[in-house]
Amino acid sequence: MTSTETDALGVLRRVFGYDSFRGEQEAIVEHVIAGGDALVLMPTGGGKSLCYQIPSLVRPGVGVVVSPLIALMQDQVDALRALGVRAGFLNSTQDHQQRRETEQAFLAGELDLLYLAPERLRLESTTELLGRGKVALFAIDEAHCVSQWGHDFRPDYLALSELHERWPDIPRIALTATATKATHAEIASRLNLGEARHFVASFDRPNIQYRIAPKNNPQKQLLELLRTEHAGDAGIVYCLSRASVEKTAEFLSQNGIPAVPYHAGLDSRTRAKNQARFLREDGLVVVATIAFGMGIDKPDVRFVAHLDLPKSVEGYYQETGRAGRDGLPSTAWLAYGLQDVVQQRKMIETSEGDAAHRRRLSTHLDAMLALCETVECRRVQLLNYFGQQGEPCGNCDTCLAPPESWDGTVAAQKLLSTVYRLQHERRQKFGAGQVIDILLGKQTPKVQQHRHDELTVFGVGTELSEGEWRGVVRQLLAQGLLAVEGDYGTLVLTEASGDVLGRKREVRLRREPKREPKAARTAK
Ligand code: ADP
Ligand code: ZN
Repeated sequence: MTSTETDALGVLRRVFGYDSFRGEQEAIVEHVIAGGDALVLMPTGGGKSLCYQIPSLVRPGVGVVVSPLIALMQDQVDALRALGVRAGFLNSTQDHQQRRETEQAFLAGELDLLYLAPERLRLESTTELLGRGKVALFAIDEAHCVSQWGHDFRPDYLALSELHERWPDIPRIALTATATKATHAEIASRLNLGEARHFVASFDRPNIQYRIAPKNNPQKQLLELLRTEHAGDAGIVYCLSRASVEKTAEFLSQNGIPAVPYHAGLDSRTRAKNQARFLREDGLVVVATIAFGMGIDKPDVRFVAHLDLPKSVEGYYQETGRAGRDGLPSTAWLAYGLQDVVQQRKMIETSEGDAAHRRRLSTHLDAMLALCETVECRRVQLLNYFGQQGEPCGNCDTCLAPPESWDGTVAAQKLLSTVYRLQHERRQKFGAGQVIDILLGKQTPKVQQHRHDELTVFGVGTELSEGEWRGVVRQLLAQGLLAVEGDYGTLVLTEASGDVLGRKREVRLRREPKREPKAARTAK
């Protein structure tokens, strides 16, 4: 090969068929080709793959890519082979013969790229194999999986710190689309990347319109969104449970929107079939648990809808990031309600693991709730979360229809004192429904049965509607001024509640919008 064919730009054009590098790609590629270590933070769709694929082709030897996305390795390798790149993989889905063939090709220098599942690297046979061949670089994809603090921890990733000790002269490039400042630092230290150059791309995805709506009838709200703004578009709908995935997919199909389910409870053939259809067909909607989407490279996903609250901002950002990889206007829509908060707090309370683990989960949830309840630009809030700055974007729901905030101190006092009286005068605990009935002065059978109409707070809250009270409860939960416990989501006071009841603290609340702001700047 002549030198022009082997340089990075030449490979980009000749092998991948692209005219020019994007953003930081060129700097990253040059740095790794020169033998430097790199830590790359780039949002989903930013073009991370080329950052290690091109150096693997330019440097002598085989680029070894560690990736947890075993289910996608075959696709990735097929896509590379279609471009004439000699790629192979080693993971647990292969039989002995297939593994042997790949190992032979590696040793014979007949591979450009070798994808490895992280647990493979723990095997002595794998390190021995790598020692006998020639490695061009190590790429550690989805590097945030090394973070115990993060939402996607894989114990096998911890062993990757040993790569450097064993092969000190081979450059390493770690890549992730999801990293707060804390995770970023953790990746660097756990992977021994002290000397690595850091490349941090902007996390702004200007073509994605972020919208977070109060949840009342999520399926109907979703249908409305798809009919009015995304007719015929491909998209992903995320639900928390398999049951709601199934129900929602069926609901959409019945209403004339082609939709298929995807979750870990389906057999692998059905999953593979539905995923393949999504990649191939136009305008198909996949309704999925978060099991779907890691590494999915479909450029024209026009919307990502969440019918349940994601557990963390990282998760939300990563999932919504699957929309609009082609740069065209796309929607990230989330329906969020009181029940989400109750349910997630309960899940945290009953989750396995120690107190520190539960605290971490709580911190993640709190950040997600803060994003939902913000009266500021959603994008600015998201970017700040990732340690980046931004200007109000003019293209999110709060920018398009700035929510009013109101002085909710008196409302909060009424609500908290109702919980207080139940708790202390009656030694009872109830969920939001009963508390709101008491505030509204409703003579329900349950109210009469417990003689709640005799409480002094009975009927003191008629200035707000039931929906508005639910909004108050939700926001107090989000602000930590109220808590839920137990299987039935009963409301209890927190330490901070005392400040509100003692009039030491004001409470500002976001006014519940009457209806959703219409999309103004999307194409449709
Ligand atoms: P990530 O792994 O960061 O999510 P990918 O590496 O999958 O992103 O790239 C996202 C999409 O952008 C892919 O379809 C890829 O082919 C395309 N892409 C990447 N770099 C370029 C480039 N320099 N020019 C044009 N398209 C690119
Ligand atoms: Zn905005």
